[in-house]
This record gives sequence, C-alpha cells and structure tokens, in this order.
Amino acid sequence: MSTEDNRPETFRILLVTAEFWPFSKTGGLADMTAALAKYLARQGHHVQVLTPFYRCVMDHPDLPILYPVMERVPIHLDRMSAYVDLLQARIEPRLWVTFLRAPEFFDRPGIYEQIIASKRIPYPDNAERFSCLAQSATLLARHAAPPPDIVHVHDWHCAPAALMIKHLGWYEGWYEAPATVLTIHNLEYQGRFPAGKFWLWGLPAYYMCPDGAEFYGGVNFLKAGIAFADAITTVSPTYAKQILEPRHGWGLDGILRKRQFALFGILNGVDYEVWQTENNRWLYAPYNRSDLSGKQINKRELQRELGLPINDQVALFGTISRIEFQKGIDLILDVLPSLPPNSFQYVLLGTGDPELAERARKLSQEMPGRFVFIAGYNEPLAHRIEAGCDFYLMPSRYEPCGLNQMYSLRYGTIPIVHATGGLADTVIDESENPDQATGIKFFEATTKELHRAITRALELFKDAKRLQQMRIRGMHQDFSWRRAAETYAALYRKVLRRRLY
Ligand code: ADP
Repeated sequence: MSTEDNRPETFRILLVTAEFWPFSKTGGLADMTAALAKYLARQGHHVQVLTPFYRCVMDHPDLPILYPVMERVPIHLDRMSAYVDLLQARIEPRLWVTFLRAPEFFDRPGIYEQIIASKRIPYPDNAERFSCLAQSATLLARHAAPPPDIVHVHDWHCAPAALMIKHLGWYEGWYEAPATVLTIHNLEYQGRFPAGKFWLWGLPAYYMCPDGAEFYGGVNFLKAGIAFADAITTVSPTYAKQILEPRHGWGLDGILRKRQFALFGILNGVDYEVWQTENNRWLYAPYNRSDLSGKQINKRELQRELGLPINDQVALFGTISRIEFQKGIDLILDVLPSLPPNSFQYVLLGTGDPELAERARKLSQEMPGRFVFIAGYNEPLAHRIEAGCDFYLMPSRYEPCGLNQMYSLRYGTIPIVHATGGLADTVIDESENPDQATGIKFFEATTKELHRAITRALELFKDAKRLQQMRIRGMHQDFSWRRAAETYAALYRKVLRRRLY
C-alpha cells in the first residue's frame, strides 16, 4: 500500500532487545518489546525481533520450533571472534522472533548478572556479550532481503547498533541503510565500560569522542545510541522532559539536550490480552467493571495463599517490583511499622538488592499477619496480587514509565504513586481532578509523604462508595498498545521522511 507521495504505509522493522516476554524477562523492557512487536505486526508492519538465546529461553516451555537462518557467522569482537547462529520462528502473522545463539555468551543462569556470596555481580564480559548482540543486529539488517526500513534498538545493550549502522551508511557504501530509533527504558543503566571495550565494535577511533561514545574516559554504550540514532524515544512524556535536567540525566542530560529535537516521549501501553481480569487462568475468580464481586474472592483467596488472616475489613496493599532503591522499597519498609496495626496487610513480591531484601525479610518476620515478603520472580502470583489487593504501592524515586500502576488500574486496584515520570502521566489524583481521580499521588518521595498517602488510602477504604467509584474509573482507563504502536509507526514515518530530504 502507498501513500499519495509513494512512501510505504507499512514498514519492515527490526526490533533488537535484550529481553523479550515470555522468553526472557527481568522487568518492563520484556513486556514493552513483546507488546510493541505484536501490535506493530497487527497493524500490518513486518516485524522481526532479534534477542539473545539465553538458557531461560532454551528451557522455556512455550518455545516454538526454531529454524536456522544463519549459521556459524563470525562476529569479530576486537581480537576475538565468536561464531553465532540465528534461529527463527514465526510467532504471529508478520511477526518473527530471531534468537541469537552464542552459547559462550548467553548459555548462563542469569541474563545480566550472577550471584556470588549473595552479591549480585554483573557478568564481567557484558561488554562483549552485548557488543555481539549489536553487531549481529547490524549484520542481520545488512543481509536481510528485503532490508528493514527501521532498526529499533532498546536500551544500552543494543544501542551501539545505531552507530554501527550509521557508520556503514556513511563510509561503507550501505546507501540504503535503515533509519534507527533508540528507546531508553531507564537512563540509569548505560553500559559504561573501560575505554578499551570500544574496540569490540570494530569502528574507527574518531567515534570515541565527547560527542560520540566517550564518557568520562570510558565507553558508554547508551551514549553511542543517543548520539547517532535518527530518533530517540523514552517511555513517557514526563520522563522525556525530566531526563533533560541534571537531576534525572545521569550525566547524559547534556547530550540529550543537544539531541532534544529528536527526542520523543511515548507512553508504554498495556497488553490487555495478557493483563485482564476475565479469562485469566491465574486468577481465582473472574470479574469486570460491572461486577466486582470476583475481586473480593480474589482478595480472600490471596490472603489464604499468603497465610494472612482472611478479612474483608482490612485494606490489602501490594507491590511487585525489582527490590531497588529506585523503586522506593526502603520507604515502604520505613513506613510499615508506623501504620495503625489492625488496618492493613501488605504483600511484597520481588527480587533484587540483597541488603534491601534482607531488611524486608526481617521486617516481615516482625510483622506476622500484616506483612508478607515473597522473595522471587513469580508471574502467576503477580496477577493474583494485582487482582486481590485493594491498593498498589509504587513510591518509585523515579519511574521512566512503570507498568504495574497501569495493570492495577485495569484490575480495579487503586495505585498509590509518587508523581514522577510515567506515574505522573497515568494516575489522576483527587487534588488534580476530583471527578476523574483514579489513584492517590504524592509529590515528594519521602517517608512522611508516603505515610500521608497511605493514610489517605485507609480513609478511602472506609468509604465504600467512593472506593468503588474510583476503582471503576480506573478500570475504564485505556492504555492499550494499539494507540502506542500507532504513535511509534507515526514516528518511523517521520524519521524516514526526514531522512529522504
Ligand atoms: P522495571 O522495568 O523498572 O522493572 P516496570 O514497572 O516498567 O519496572 O515493569 C516491571 C515488570 O516486571 C512488570 O510486568 C512487573 O509485574 C514485573 N515484575 C517485576 N518483579 C517481578 C516479580 N518478582 N515477579 C513477577 N513479576 C515481576
């Protein structure tokens, strides 16, 4: 199909990501790339996803039959070479997933890190591992027939591919090199390594400069992408503004300000085929916005499952999260002991920082019947927590987008959020609009403000009518991926058009 100016209406997109749900996931990156790929394909685009063949992918029960598309391809990483295979499967019409098999890099228990003496240590060869991914993406784009129009890379792991493709287009005779888009899911994670790791990319030294990949004497994978991608996106409009300021810029606000004409904030969506309260095999009972009785059953069954007293009159709070300082888990742990003892129950599900997790474990032992900490990663339980809780606590110090507050809204669970990044964009507080409120916001990430917000929630819990109204309003919110995927397609169109002039 063509537009009146003869440019294609649909695109061939190569999406490159270190995580892809359901095969590999540590956080929202996996959900986002899976949903974006699916909804772009459903809108008629041809989408190929390139992602590593980790051990968890190999062991995944839903792994489709894979066909090799390239075998024993040499990838030169400075003075060493890795031989990689590309294995492919079609998972929906117009949607292919291609796994990068390089056992020496990806056949490991973790995705990014290992646990040694209860400390989380990033794999020492992460620069090599993800340079291999970036180079493989570049190679795949160059040899694909027909080639992609767009290479969309996500986060630092594959950001150097944007530079590699630019370089080949400028100096190596690849005249039809695809346009590149980089999505930043979290600016804190940049892929910073000693300068020598720059040579892994096989590029000339002049890119290792302050306007390129160099960062305080080292190499910065994400910065290479920021400097050279045709467009940069981040996952909410508020975060797109925040990262231009030193406070949220993690040292990259300068180069982001330089490139702000190419920076866009596009709010992530929710895959409502996955996150739904009806036809959800993981829930105890289905429910919807016209009949919330099933939510009460989910609450009681969740209390039973967690070993909490079964009690409708007590407000049940929950959080599902990486246990990190960013997520404000420490603020929750500070506040819990000071709440009225018989008024609440709280469940925390997560993994992450061992010290913070240990604090949570100890506190949960001191607060039996009130606080349960489940250490680990458990997707079915995540759905049950979303469905069974009355309130969802998300006091993130910063939050590029955040997904769980949007899942909560759909599950009729009222989000309590620090108004930052995507949390500011997706939740409406009574102080902003009393008739449209969908949650409780607080405006400073402090123990005092969180305490105040939870106190407001406990008051709301006593007012059944207001509580019900707010729940139903939240359930009506529409953050579907259809809208977000259309916005990405419009951006691809813009980027391709701009390059043509
Ligand atoms: P981030 O990407 O910063 O971790 P997001 O809110 O964007 O945060 O996305 C987190 C995703 O990971 C959500 O889908 C959440 O449910 C999921 N998740 C995080 N920790 C766990 C866990 N321990 N068990 C199950 N799901 C989890």
